[in-house]
Amino acid sequence: MKSSLRNVSLVSALLKWFAHAARDLPWRRTPDPYAIWVSEIMLQQTQVKTVIAYWARWMRNLPTVQALAEARPERIHKLWEGLGYYTRVRNMQTAAQQIVARHGGEFPRDFEAILELPGIGRYTAGAIASIAFNEPRPVLDGNVIRVLTRLFGIADNPKDKAVNARLWELSEDLVKAASMISLHERGPSTRTTTRLRSETSAYAKRLRRDKSARQASTIETDERCSHLNQSLMELGALVCIPKNPACSACPVRTACVAKRTGRTAELPSLGPRKAATARRFAAFVLERKGRYFVRQRPAGVVNAHLWEFPNVEIAPAADASELRDAARHALGSGIKIGEHIYTVKHSITRYRITTGAYRAVAEGMAKPDMAGEWRTLAQLRLLAFPSAHKRILHHVSNHAIGAETACPRKTNGTSLRRIC
Ligand code: SF4
Repeated sequence: MKSSLRNVSLVSALLKWFAHAARDLPWRRTPDPYAIWVSEIMLQQTQVKTVIAYWARWMRNLPTVQALAEARPERIHKLWEGLGYYTRVRNMQTAAQQIVARHGGEFPRDFEAILELPGIGRYTAGAIASIAFNEPRPVLDGNVIRVLTRLFGIADNPKDKAVNARLWELSEDLVKAASMISLHERGPSTRTTTRLRSETSAYAKRLRRDKSARQASTIETDERCSHLNQSLMELGALVCIPKNPACSACPVRTACVAKRTGRTAELPSLGPRKAATARRFAAFVLERKGRYFVRQRPAGVVNAHLWEFPNVEIAPAADASELRDAARHALGSGIKIGEHIYTVKHSITRYRITTGAYRAVAEGMAKPDMAGEWRTLAQLRLLAFPSAHKRILHHVSNHAIGAETACPRKTNGTSLRRIC
């Protein structure tokens, strides 16, 4: 009873806080499980401010499960371009096709049926079931882990199986407590239910007031599981942040073990980070008569089906001669490497990747020693590229790399390469 009272009190504080502190995000204005699903998948590994524009464009182009199920793969890759982890978007389309085939195009309400869909794990299924259908299903992502480990003072590594299971239990206890609040409203009077009723009624009043003020269409008082889970995510995103959490603004600060014991900086204890690994790639921009040579990545590899400039991984400290050898190996002996034109640096998981783009020149009628296609810049802009190659394409477009243009240093109008 003690822990259930504690949970009810935490839930009540979180719900009240969420009613006034929640960001007005576009996917929070709809109860459509498809729209919520799209947002949840996009938000994996990507910040909210980036996702907003992607989500809006996606929903304009593919507004229903049916539309996603029937879309051409090139279209969904292009809509996802820049978000990375492209397996997610292919899984989404397979899942949409299953929803059409098995559920008549209607997103399943049943948690187990949601969990069976490709690319949907326990977290995403819990998020959809709770946010779209107000089911008392728990969620546990990085933000929620941070909140729970600090709130309950869990010092062991959340990646350990038993600790992770404990965190799922705590999350489930809270969302169940949220669902119980509405049940108790109708039950017999006891000291506990009297308290629950007054907390619930204060929450409902605040919701009604906020509904008229800001989130007009969707907030109903029977959304406590949805709001509780979102409040945990939101608290982790806005207040209980990794460094210097804003404890003075936290709705559960009086109950927080980490705050009371001065351990907010220590928790969660995720163990030492794996050292970053440096990787280097050389990409080759080969142009002929205004067309550029690109290839499509095969199925079953990272960034499968996306387009790229021919490229090869080289040693981080490779010198010019090793670079030439790599180019010959990648493109064939008739292609010579030209000048360096651009460098892209980015990180994927623990890899710090540097991609150098080099102009490549075909001698005579030599062709690259690989399958690929020659496309104009306008055609290339319609294809989906991984981020690094998209940035190279952007640079090539802006600087007309390799295109026949008047050299800025010549005034007689002679058509020369821009790089002169
Ligand atoms: Fe996080 Fe501080 Fe709130 Fe505890 S009091 S849950 S550490 S923000």
